[in-house]
Amino acid sequence: MQVQVLEESYERIKVLFEGYPRIYVNAIRRAALSLVPTMAIDDVVILENSSSFYDEVIAHRLAMVPLKTPVGKYVLPSECDCKSSLGCPRCRVLLVLDVEAGDKVRTVYSGELVSEDEDVKPISPNIPLLKLSPGQKVKLEAYAKLGRGKDHSKWQAASVSVLKSYPIIVKGKSCDNCGACVDACVKNVLSIKEGLLQIDNPLNCSLCMECVRACKSEPKGISVEEAEDKFILIIESVGSMSARDILLNAVKELISQVDKVIEGLSNVVVEVEKKG
Ligand code: SF4
Ligand code: SF4
Ligand SMILES: [Zn+2]
Repeated sequence: MQVQVLEESYERIKVLFEGYPRIYVNAIRRAALSLVPTMAIDDVVILENSSSFYDEVIAHRLAMVPLKTPVGKYVLPSECDCKSSLGCPRCRVLLVLDVEAGDKVRTVYSGELVSEDEDVKPISPNIPLLKLSPGQKVKLEAYAKLGRGKDHSKWQAASVSVLKSYPIIVKGKSCDNCGACVDACVKNVLSIKEGLLQIDNPLNCSLCMECVRACKSEPKGISVEEAEDKFILIIESVGSMSARDILLNAVKELISQVDKVIEGLSNVVVEVEKKG
C-alpha cells in the first residue's frame, strides 16, 4: 500500500492511493466534502438596517462568505461546554459590520467585516456583500462557528473532491503511428515525436476513450484501461484551509466516526452480557 502526493499547492492537492480498496478512498473523498469542521457565520444580530435588503438576505450573504479556519483553534459548538446559543470564545468568533453610504451609492465588501480574531476573516476582502444608497446604513454583529458541510454548504471546506481511476495506456504492436489518436485527445496525453506515438502525460487522461475510437488499426493500436487498485484523489479548497489540511482532517474525522461506532458496539456487548 502506498500514498503519493502527485501535485500540491495551498488550494489543490492530488494524491495517488495504491493498493487501497476504492470504498476506503471514496470515504475520504466524501469526508472531505461533508465532515471537515469549517468556520462560517451562523448567527447575525442586526442592530440597524436602513438598506433595501431584508435582514434575512444580509444574513444569508454573510453566511456564504468563506472564512479562514485555523485548524484546531476552536471547537464545534456541540462539543463546547458553554452550551450557549451565541457561543463563547472557545466556539465562536465575533465579526462586526458597521457601514454607511455617504452621498453616493456604494458597495460594501467582505473586507469591511471586522473580526475579533485575525485568523478568522473572509478569505478575500473583495467579495461584494451589499449596495447602499446615499444615507443608508447597516450595523450588525455576526457570529462565526465551526460546522460541517453535511449540515450546510457554507461549512464545506472543499469546493472539489473527486476520485479518478488511474489510467493504464498501452501502445500496441499494430500502431502505425498515424497520429489520429493524438488529434482526438483533448487532454494532451499523447504526441508524435520523431514519427513515433508517445504517451507523455498519462495522469491527465480522463479515460474518455476518444483515442481508441479514433484509431482505425485492427486490432486497435492503443488501449486504455482503469487500474483496479490505484486511484487519484483530487481535493480543491474554497480557501478556508489548505487542501492538505482538508485531506488530513477528513481522515481524522473518519477515524473518529469509526471510534464512535466501536464505542457504541462495545456498549451493546456490555448490555448483552448483563442481560445474559
Ligand atoms: S494508436 Fe492508432 S491512431 Fe494512434 S498513432 Fe497508432 S495507429 Fe494511429
Ligand atoms: S482516453 Fe481520452 S484522455 Fe485518455 S488518452 Fe485517450 S483520448 Fe486522451
Ligand atoms: Zn462555547
